[in-house]
Amino acid sequence: MHDYPGDHLIRAITPDGRIRVVAAITTTTVREAAHRQKTQHIATVALGRAATAGLLLATLTKGGERVTVQILGDGPLRGITIDANDQGNVRGYVGRPEVEGNPGPVAPWLGKGIVHVVRDLGLNKDSQYGGQSEIVSGEVDLDVEHYLQKSEQIESALGCEVIWGDGGQVAVAGGVLVQCLPSGDVSAVADARERIRGGLARVLGEAGDAAGIARAIAGEVTVLDTRPVRFFCPCSAQRIEDTLGLLGDAELQAMIREDHGAEITCNFCNAVYRVSEARLEEIRRRLA
Ligand SMILES: [Zn+2]
Repeated sequence: MHDYPGDHLIRAITPDGRIRVVAAITTTTVREAAHRQKTQHIATVALGRAATAGLLLATLTKGGERVTVQILGDGPLRGITIDANDQGNVRGYVGRPEVEGNPGPVAPWLGKGIVHVVRDLGLNKDSQYGGQSEIVSGEVDLDVEHYLQKSEQIESALGCEVIWGDGGQVAVAGGVLVQCLPSGDVSAVADARERIRGGLARVLGEAGDAAGIARAIAGEVTVLDTRPVRFFCPCSAQRIEDTLGLLGDAELQAMIREDHGAEITCNFCNAVYRVSEARLEEIRRRLA
């Protein structure tokens, strides 16, 4: 197993300009997400695959692009929510992180359900759109690939993997997205898909970096740019107070009277914010 550089993502294109390739190493990012969420094995794999997919999807434009991927299944994990942006920041959570499953397919744990994707290209107020598709495999990457094919109607091959190491933690995580550009070569995407299915785990173990993953899956590519990737949650005490301000007076009064304050946990990063009785009173007065 290679000693990897820090987590990063590359955007690339084949020399003929007909195929775009995005690849990422997300090992530290997935470890951090798992640590924040206290996920057990199978939940870590599901969360890591989804976080990697989110990062790969948020690469269409430059400047303010965001992608939210929500996979809601009827299995024990309940679902996965991922929020990624073009700065290489990602955060996410699993419905039930404590679910314990042995290494193996994620599908039995995710179950059947729906993949929702909301994109904000960050270009203008009309550049937000969303779509959904069914969970077809339950392995996360295959389901997001199906979404791209069906809802966005772009010929796509997507593979995301989390490899478990000795010592009970993530050894390598990463992924690759290969997409047909207009007038592109559909069969090249099919070939890439075959290589992904044939052994993405082996490629991740040997590639060395994101460009190596891209070349192993899509052949010769020209790297357009490289960006760092990390787990990042922008929540803050101020944002939590802003959210409390959206509650009605009655609800704030109940928090003051019955709970003498509020304790709010961020779903994404598990940070705990305590808001004092006096502060709640101030928020309430501001509303009046
Ligand atoms: Zn947070």
